[in-house]
Amino acid sequence: MGQVRELKCPHCGEWTLWAGSIDDRCLYCDGFLEPQRFSREVEKKILKEVVKENDYLFIRPTDSDLKRQGKLFLNGVRWVFLYIQVVFFIFISIILVLISIIAA
Ligand SMILES: [Zn+2]
Repeated sequence: MGQVRELKCPHCGEWTLWAGSIDDRCLYCDGFLEPQRFSREVEKKILKEVVKENDYLFIRPTDSDLKRQGKLFLNGVRWVFLYIQVVFFIFISIILVLISIIAA
């Protein structure tokens, strides 16, 4: 890495200089010198994006206002349900405590 080498361009067949990084381009045709490695890196990046997009109700910049509002609303509903669960848990705990006090 970091060493400039001569490499035969996989696109145009000309000998060009390659410094070992994934985004080095051919001096003649401007093609990526390591297309396989480059596409693998891009694939990794895209996969990461897909995982992010699969994240529950992820809001994308391309979303319309309505879609955004809907997602925000559903996100809010999700939080409300979470709070209800917590409140319910606390409520049950209090009842259990009260029962134990009454029974004592
Ligand atoms: Zn080339």
